[in-house]
Amino acid sequence: MFKRNFKSDIESEIFHAISNCCNETKIECYAIGGFVRDLIIGKNLAKDIDILVVGSGIEIAKLTAKRLKIGSKITVFKNFGTAMFKYNGYDVEFVGTRKESYNKSSRNPIVKPGTLDDDLNRRDFTINTLGISLNKNSWGDLLDKFNGITDLENKIIKTPLEPRQTFSDDPLRMLRAARFSSQLNFKIDINSFNGLISEKERIKIISPERISEEINKIIMTSKPSVGFKILESTGLLKIIIPELTDLKGIEEIEGQKHKDNFYHTLEVLDNICLETENLWLRWAALLHDIGKAPTKQFVKKIGWTFHGHELKGSKMVYKLFKRLNLPLNNKLKYVQKIIYLSSRPIVLSNNNITDSAVRRLIYDCNEDIDDLLTLCEADITTKNPLRFKKYLNNFKLVRDKIKIVEERDSIRNFQPPVSGEEIMNYFKIKPSKEIGIIKEYIKNSILDGKIQNNKESAKLLMIKKGESLGLKNNAIE
Ligand code: ATP
Ligand code: MG
Repeated sequence: MFKRNFKSDIESEIFHAISNCCNETKIECYAIGGFVRDLIIGKNLAKDIDILVVGSGIEIAKLTAKRLKIGSKITVFKNFGTAMFKYNGYDVEFVGTRKESYNKSSRNPIVKPGTLDDDLNRRDFTINTLGISLNKNSWGDLLDKFNGITDLENKIIKTPLEPRQTFSDDPLRMLRAARFSSQLNFKIDINSFNGLISEKERIKIISPERISEEINKIIMTSKPSVGFKILESTGLLKIIIPELTDLKGIEEIEGQKHKDNFYHTLEVLDNICLETENLWLRWAALLHDIGKAPTKQFVKKIGWTFHGHELKGSKMVYKLFKRLNLPLNNKLKYVQKIIYLSSRPIVLSNNNITDSAVRRLIYDCNEDIDDLLTLCEADITTKNPLRFKKYLNNFKLVRDKIKIVEERDSIRNFQPPVSGEEIMNYFKIKPSKEIGIIKEYIKNSILDGKIQNNKESAKLLMIKKGESLGLKNNAIE
């Protein structure tokens, strides 16, 4: 089976090299884990190969690297008993069979060399325990201690041993369960699912960067709602991103209901995943409504309102990113900006789309304006086909208008046509608040369409505004 499934000559070369080394040393070796899983379901995109060695992983890694003539390029992690090398785009990692013992108070297991059985027992899911023999006499045979192949066929995620123990030992596995379910579109076995519920609190011992790595992986799947629904229904989401679970539920007062903003959010996220691979735009979609929970209000005669939720939501992102150890640089700013501006195109499309409103939006959003509109389009979750079409068309009109205004007025990456320096030189003044006032006045006049976006018009306006502030061009006097 295995022989037929090589996807490339390079894979074949790597596996034959390993196989020869196993034979020479008479050490058992298997391809194991994700590589085998994905190979069997025919979905492999990943180029990392895990090799399980019943003995010293480092030794086989060294021998294989030598055989592939890249002996010097191997990286050895002595403490972990592992070694890896890169070969023609593949990452090949070797690990010796090990036994892990967990101590509840410590986050790190005690790792000792162990038998093949010990090693398979410590793995997270049956579908990840599958191995393929690389030894000559059993080449291509499947190693399947836990009947993982059946779970793979039935699309089931199940822990090899008792779920509670497995999740308590390494709580990251709980997020991996949701992630694999989302990536592969597999169901979680009922006992394992109950294990998630009962061990959820243990997630608190996992470092934020490991948590966000898994969340990012869920977000990058083609339908992340699958993973997030698991996180929500097991109670894990409330612990790691309560801002999202706070959006849950529908309230009714005086016969007026609002929509469930949590499930709406997941729909928006799934929608945007059809349009973009940009992790941060996907994050913006996930968080675009988080300001709705703290701003929700029922106003008599008006109904449910979420006034200012865009600003509130964008402000909440900082704390959330900091807590999850997500980047606090331009990625954060980007997500905040998209959320803050998320309602602007709707407001625009509901009114007469004026040039000045479009110019202001381009000015505020700059190079991210296409992303903003992608979010707005993903945000249309109405089930009424006529309305859906109408809303989508409204955004198309906004997009068209943006294009026209942009080509004509070049507002994107707006540079003030008159610099502070020029204002100071003209009026022979030192840095002062008047310069800011003049610059702002020119900018607003351009955005409002009162003058054109060019130096000539801006300079005339500068003189006029300067004079109204009592400044004079001393050079002329
Ligand atoms: P992918 O590479 O697509 O994320 P994978 O299954 O290869 O999926 P890795 O993190 O590369 O996942 O790990 C390789 C293998 O190591 C897994 O298939 C699994 O057998 C084992 N493994 C990884 N992390 C854990 C864990 N936290 N607990 C138990 N076993 C794990
Ligand atoms: Mg892997």
